[in-house]
Amino acid sequence: MEEDIIQKHKPQNRGTSISKLRRSRKHCPICLTLLEKNLKRTRLKRQCTVCGAQRLDKFQCKKCGRREIWMSPMGTACQSCGNHGSKLEVAIPSAGSTFQK
Ligand SMILES: [Zn+2]
Ligand SMILES: [Zn+2]
Repeated sequence: MEEDIIQKHKPQNRGTSISKLRRSRKHCPICLTLLEKNLKRTRLKRQCTVCGAQRLDKFQCKKCGRREIWMSPMGTACQSCGNHGSKLEVAIPSAGSTFQK
């Protein structure tokens, strides 16, 4: 009888899975916390209670051009393509808006 040798082999693909989480729409694209479902039955979750991020329609992503920008004191991220970094690196004001807040 041979004994089983347990060798857990976990794939080291953290980088890609973080990017996936960022774009999942179920997680905050900035701190990656799973977003709560109970926001008055809104289909899209627009804020994160953990890091204070909010989805702001008046900005668009520098990389993909979509208005799926989230901002928090921790940084800025695009929920569409996973672009993230500082506010000026990630977002540009969409038409009619300026950087003020
Ligand atoms: Zn967050
Ligand atoms: Zn983007």
